[in-house]
Amino acid sequence: MILPGKMRIQAFLQISCTRFLQMLALSGLLLLPLGTETCATAIQTRMKCGKSAELRLSSPTSNQGGLLLAELRSQQPLKAPKGKWDGKEILFWNRNTPEDASPVAYLGLVGVDLEQPAGKYEFAVTAESQSGEKVSCTANVLVKAGRFAVENLQVPKQFVEPDPEQLKRAQEEQKRLREIFATMSPERLWQGSFRIPLDGVTSGKNFGKRRILNGQLGSPHGGVDLPGTTGTPVHAAQSGRVVLAEELFFSGNSVVVDHGLGIYTFYGHLSEISVKVGDEVSSGALLGKVGATGRVTGPHLHWGLTVNRARVDPLQIVKLLSSE
Ligand SMILES: [Zn+2]
Repeated sequence: MILPGKMRIQAFLQISCTRFLQMLALSGLLLLPLGTETCATAIQTRMKCGKSAELRLSSPTSNQGGLLLAELRSQQPLKAPKGKWDGKEILFWNRNTPEDASPVAYLGLVGVDLEQPAGKYEFAVTAESQSGEKVSCTANVLVKAGRFAVENLQVPKQFVEPDPEQLKRAQEEQKRLREIFATMSPERLWQGSFRIPLDGVTSGKNFGKRRILNGQLGSPHGGVDLPGTTGTPVHAAQSGRVVLAEELFFSGNSVVVDHGLGIYTFYGHLSEISVKVGDEVSSGALLGKVGATGRVTGPHLHWGLTVNRARVDPLQIVKLLSSE
């Protein structure tokens, strides 16, 4: 097919933009060609969603293990706004109080799993207005390869390979955790911003770190390690319901808090646990104390965040919801 000159150029730009984005995604580069019109339309952060709604994303790109905030603004209240990301349903919550404020804003969190392959993905949003008008739109999100540290370790075999009984126990616990994280409590159990669980701590390390033990690639580190001495109080990052409080093989004394809408925080290696399953906790409530239980070399808090089954960097939710 022969296209007129201008269209040919546009088609060329479109193709090169897509290729360029793919290259960036593969290389994990942060640079983005936002200045070029074709690229900007491919990865925009704001878009029309039906006649009277607009979808905004906190960023058109994410690293593996990143978190995005989606905002759906509408001139009138919407029924059941929902998103679809990587085959999973994302629930939105209403930001406004009172409910009749205009425009109405709905927020949703999109978690990009630590091991989600780099590339271009679609985030599809659907809702219905009170008058029955369908609202739908799709945003493109570019997932970039995370730049995670790789640690090579040579250690005696017995420290790497659990015996068959330990392995069976660890696998059963992993399965239970997966089932917990796949359960979506439909109501939001928190309000406001999330906090770092240790007082005075502002950063963590090791998120996504890959360990190669005796030449074998282990699973990536799914949370951040926060510095703390044994006995330091561990606080709930936000309010929610305790859904796990027990000793696990790898993470020692552990607590999982369900915050609703598929959002869970995980606290590991505790020296003691102060809550039990079923407890309703408020933001900052004492969950236990820092320790060195499970497979660790020293005391610290392992803090994890799961959003719709995606393992994401928990420090991101602290930043993203700080003004919510
Ligand atoms: Zn850890």
